[in-house]
Amino acid sequence: MDKAEILAKFSAEPDKYYKVKLFEEQGYQRKSCSVCGRFFWTIDENRSSCPEDSEDTYSFIDNPPTLKRFDYSQAWNEVESFFTKNGHTSVNRYPVVCRWRDDLYFTIASVVDFQRIMGSKVVFEFPANPILVPQPCLRFKDLENVGVTGRHFSSFCMIGQLSIPNEKGYWKDECIDLDYRLLTNQFGINKKEIVFVEDVWEGGGSFGSSLEYYVKGLELGNAVFTEFQGELGNHTELDQKVIDMGAGLERFAWITMGTPTAYDCCFGPITQKLIDKVGIDIEQNLLTQYFVEVAKNQEKYPNILEVKNHAIANVGLDQQKVLHGINPLEGIYLIADHLRTLIFAISDGALPSNVGGGYNLRIVLRRIIGTMQRLGLKLDLNEMIDWHIDYLKATYPELEEKRADVKTIVGVESKRYEESKIRMEKIANNLKSKKHVPNVDELITMYESDGITPDYLKELEVIPEIPPTFYSKLSDLHQTVDTKQTAKLPLEGTAETELLFYGDDPHDFEAKVLAVFDKFVVLDKTSFYARGGGQEPDYGTIAGFEVVDVNKHGNVIVHELKGGVPKEGETVHCIVDSARREGITKHHTSTHILNSSARNILGSWVWQNSAFKEVDHARLDITHHSALTDEQVKQIEEFANKIVQKDMQVSIENYDRGTAEQKYGFRIYQGGVVPVKSVRIVAIEDFDIEACGGTHVKKTKEIDLIKITRTKRIQDGVVRLEFVAGPAAQEYLKTHEADVEKQAAEAAAKAERDKLRDQKKAEAREKIPVILEQVTQATSDTTIEDISVTVADSGMFCSSSSEHYDEYFHINFGEKLIKKDPKASYCGIFEAGSTLRAIVYSGESSKNKNAGAIAKAVSEILGGSGGGNNRFAQGGGKDKSKKDEAIKKAKQMVLE
Ligand SMILES: [Zn+2]
Ligand SMILES: [Zn+2]
Repeated sequence: MDKAEILAKFSAEPDKYYKVKLFEEQGYQRKSCSVCGRFFWTIDENRSSCPEDSEDTYSFIDNPPTLKRFDYSQAWNEVESFFTKNGHTSVNRYPVVCRWRDDLYFTIASVVDFQRIMGSKVVFEFPANPILVPQPCLRFKDLENVGVTGRHFSSFCMIGQLSIPNEKGYWKDECIDLDYRLLTNQFGINKKEIVFVEDVWEGGGSFGSSLEYYVKGLELGNAVFTEFQGELGNHTELDQKVIDMGAGLERFAWITMGTPTAYDCCFGPITQKLIDKVGIDIEQNLLTQYFVEVAKNQEKYPNILEVKNHAIANVGLDQQKVLHGINPLEGIYLIADHLRTLIFAISDGALPSNVGGGYNLRIVLRRIIGTMQRLGLKLDLNEMIDWHIDYLKATYPELEEKRADVKTIVGVESKRYEESKIRMEKIANNLKSKKHVPNVDELITMYESDGITPDYLKELEVIPEIPPTFYSKLSDLHQTVDTKQTAKLPLEGTAETELLFYGDDPHDFEAKVLAVFDKFVVLDKTSFYARGGGQEPDYGTIAGFEVVDVNKHGNVIVHELKGGVPKEGETVHCIVDSARREGITKHHTSTHILNSSARNILGSWVWQNSAFKEVDHARLDITHHSALTDEQVKQIEEFANKIVQKDMQVSIENYDRGTAEQKYGFRIYQGGVVPVKSVRIVAIEDFDIEACGGTHVKKTKEIDLIKITRTKRIQDGVVRLEFVAGPAAQEYLKTHEADVEKQAAEAAAKAERDKLRDQKKAEAREKIPVILEQVTQATSDTTIEDISVTVADSGMFCSSSSEHYDEYFHINFGEKLIKKDPKASYCGIFEAGSTLRAIVYSGESSKNKNAGAIAKAVSEILGGSGGGNNRFAQGGGKDKSKKDEAIKKAKQMVLE
């Protein structure tokens, strides 16, 4: 569906789609823009062009059209008090991590709060009507604009004014009337300044007309009247029409303050504190001129760099003002913005990583650190986090309790960045020496495989500028979550299965066969639990045939049988394997217990990433920034077993989805999104509350014991806990104890052997003079204390590869030997860890005086390299089977 076509159609019938009561009452006129042709509504007779093409664009900077000044927090108070006075329920913000939609990582608009996906359709669920919400939204598409344009943020507060037109809610006329009165009465803006522009909005299969409202060229909000679905021309009216007015809180603050940028009035005292710390050398009037230029001309040039360059030229800023004024200021704005985004995201449980939405968080933190380093700013991230939360908690009090967690994660991630810098530096220098300037795709690959941000490459002057498309391309790659497809069976017309396992759960029951295809059987009702939510299916028999798999296809349960199938229409006897079910059930409840235990021990960022529950083992993948230490594993296990021992009640109740979300919060979605209106809430008292379709024990003591058998960091930001519960845990304990004993015995034996060898080595050192005496007196071939001695006319060759001799022995022995007998040569080989090392000495008068050549030849045989001078040389290799061959070679070289 083409947006321009819809707009043309709607604008052709303005009375039907755009004309609201207010326009008539106030004498608004509809005009077509003299520049771009768009239609807009105004009461200013002299206005001939739309807000974006008018002379007054951004003229509020330094000259705000309101009498009162409101910063971010105060602006929200004004908005909230106006709408609550006018019958709206103000609800708390929803998480910025969009737990209730599996097609989005982050909440990108206020209306998303109330959208739920049912099949392929978007439905609205409102906790009240009409409603108001201050929703922080995260968007990473135009990061290169943040801090630069004066109005782009990576997170911003979208004021959501939403209404369903029924006996409680309202439609177009009242919506626009409210927005108009908000601007005029509450904010004191002259009505002549308010312009409404005709537009449309479409998405999620539905669409409608919309009116954007502008003041002095700044778009403050957009009221969307969603009322149609389907293709344009062939569309139908929605059963559930929705008013979706979204407005930028930051812009409301900005228009009343008239500061050069929105950043100057939306981070509370933070921007000024940073400016004071850093010291900015530029006059206020130049700043105002510069940012007005940037704001006005943003659409005129292909990218932000050109916009900047033109603004610098037009205002006449010299290099000095750019270097010590504009650049550090942009850095300060960027840091304040990005840090605020991280605070919201981490508070809501997201972790920076190299996968999914975590990508964007990692990138914003690296941009903060990179900017600080590039500009030489010495700033304390923890202190800045405190400033932000101190300021934001007036509007978002829930941030307070996450203060420490935010600092922990930012700390861990900053440290990781510093550690990876050495490698990044190497790659960057390599590019620099090759004089290769990577293109956007290469930059994306470098970021994905090595975590190298373009900001960093810019800092090292590998690239002159960050390509303007980098962040949008990267963001496209990581914006949406993959959604799984289920296999199709011809089940149309098959009645949905009655689920006995949610009721009395009989393990021995009669059922009617509704359909059979191949080895698959559908019954009218079943107690066989179908694979789902990480829980493995039940086994047993149907009409005597073995059940080997059970899957859910929509609302129909399909049993896979082995050895035969019953006939359609038959009534069959079904038996569920109770022992198997019990094992799986214990593991399932244990998963919930471990998940909350891990969160208690590690931190609020722990969420279930995925889980798997079998009869005799299970695994739980949780979100966590680092691998677990043994101590942490022990603490989690102890915590979990305390919950088991407390014998807590596990209760299961069905709730309307909206009610469950309001009552328990979004923590309930540990197992992912629930695609039905009624959610099954499994509560282990108030310790762990989750939406879950699985089977559970009635009291935690039934589990008896939970043992974590292994943990592993399986990907960036995700740690796997493998565990066993119930009888499987007792079994594990038994075999594990035997293993532990065996391992301890082996370790003791090895320690004893090591001790003996060290003793021998020490003894050998002391025996050097004695051995030396005996060796030099030998008159024929012999072996003395593991040293083989060959006596020839030209001189003597001694060698040893005994495990009792170490480096110290060989060097001292060889050295002393050739001193005492200048005609002698020596070759000693010993093990050092996983490799062999060789020491070679040749006396002054020996036949082959070149120790270096010998060491080289010996090392080659050992599969390594070596060398030295005539007298002393060393080398080695990895091939332990070639010890004798190597010594033989040395002997040959000396004696032949
Ligand atoms: Zn225009
Ligand atoms: Zn569960």
